[in-house]
Amino acid sequence: MNRLKVFLVFLIVFELVFISSFIIGKSKLLYALYKAEIFLKVLERNINISQSLKPYYTEYSCRDCNVVLISIDTLRADHTGFMGYFRNTTPNLDRIAKESIVFNNAFAQMAITAPSHTSIFTSLYASQHGQLRNELKINDKFIILSEIMKAKGYETVAFVGDGAVDGILGFSKGFELYDDGNVHFSETIPKAINWVENNKHKKFFLFIHGYEPHEPYGGGEFSGAFVEENYSGVFKEYDVIVPTLDILPPVSQNLSKEDIDYVKAKYDADIKQADKYIGMFIDKLKEFDIYNKTILVMFSDHGEFLGEILIREKSKKNHFGHHDLYDETLHQVLILKTPKIEFPKRIYDVVSSIDIAPTVLELAGIGKFSQFNGKSLTDVVFAKNHESFSISESLPDKPNSVLEISVRTFKWRLIIRDDNFIELYDMENDNKQMKNIGESNKEIVDNLVNLYLKTVNYENEKISEPASSDKLTENLRQLGY
Ligand SMILES: [Zn+2]
Repeated sequence: MNRLKVFLVFLIVFELVFISSFIIGKSKLLYALYKAEIFLKVLERNINISQSLKPYYTEYSCRDCNVVLISIDTLRADHTGFMGYFRNTTPNLDRIAKESIVFNNAFAQMAITAPSHTSIFTSLYASQHGQLRNELKINDKFIILSEIMKAKGYETVAFVGDGAVDGILGFSKGFELYDDGNVHFSETIPKAINWVENNKHKKFFLFIHGYEPHEPYGGGEFSGAFVEENYSGVFKEYDVIVPTLDILPPVSQNLSKEDIDYVKAKYDADIKQADKYIGMFIDKLKEFDIYNKTILVMFSDHGEFLGEILIREKSKKNHFGHHDLYDETLHQVLILKTPKIEFPKRIYDVVSSIDIAPTVLELAGIGKFSQFNGKSLTDVVFAKNHESFSISESLPDKPNSVLEISVRTFKWRLIIRDDNFIELYDMENDNKQMKNIGESNKEIVDNLVNLYLKTVNYENEKISEPASSDKLTENLRQLGY
């Protein structure tokens, strides 16, 4: 970093601290410090797999096992049977959950498809890997899990949707075959089954993804499965619902309970389709006699708003989509099945999707990788040195946006946005996040902000030059300077 840049950083930090301390009090001061930190994290990090991978093998490791990751796009955890949903959306996932470890409180690091998957594959927070929008590419300097698996001798294959997990964004790194010419599980699962059938004697790392139940909702095989027969509301003529595009009847306000139920029925229909195909895949692993030598991780990359009303918005409009920092959009499904851990287990500690990659490396007996910021989930399952919280971030899609942050513990959800509207919810007593108690709980807010700062900063790592002056400028612009 040259002297001018150091001086610039100092000036901005000083300005933020000085002004903030007078005007906005302690918790906002921490937030201002956090804003200044963002561009310090635009780092080039030269990481080499063999030098950065420390051997690590535990009693839970299985070096002969295959590894399968299944990503169910946009699946809200609370719309699954094994998490208590009233509809029979997931008979197959329920069956698998009974033979697995289920994490009841798992949260995504960003509620947007590409950044969330990047956090999963790099085990980094969104502000650390910097891929904050669907159209951005993963920084080449970061190693993703598939590259490590390939380096360790696995056949690496993926059958995924297009768009936000397209190989062009960098997700194909390390894969010998990355088939992203699909949308739904009804395409990716049959291809995956076919590949496994022909390669079942090899040791493989397989990534499967499908866009059910991402919008548009209800276009699949179970479109009418949950719809009320007598429904006569605004969507009656529409088999397929696309809430965030407003191309159908405007869904943004004044919807009746029946209208919202209809949207949910269509969303749930797509969950049922994902469930059907995933069930088919699991049955094939059993038929091929490799289920018991496979480490299986199933997760959703984020959830979805389905007509909820946010207290922060005065308009009282019904909310849809998934670019927010509330439980509806961040609470994810996370199921882990591995031959060396006795099941079933229910884990209530808060965990994160950045924990998936370190878990895979331990369970496959590969090692610990220095770039990974998550922790192996075995630490949680067996209650070893685990701090139970999850951090999520969001960058609103508007000019001069500043990163928004959220910290979730078992008890609390804190959200801080660029308009300085601090939200704090008591998730044990208010899990719908209807009563913001941030103003009267400043100490808790400060503690959670401190937890964020401590966790996301690279306190103990060597910091190199910023990636480029263009990137620095861009980051400053995003910070509003
Ligand atoms: Zn997604």
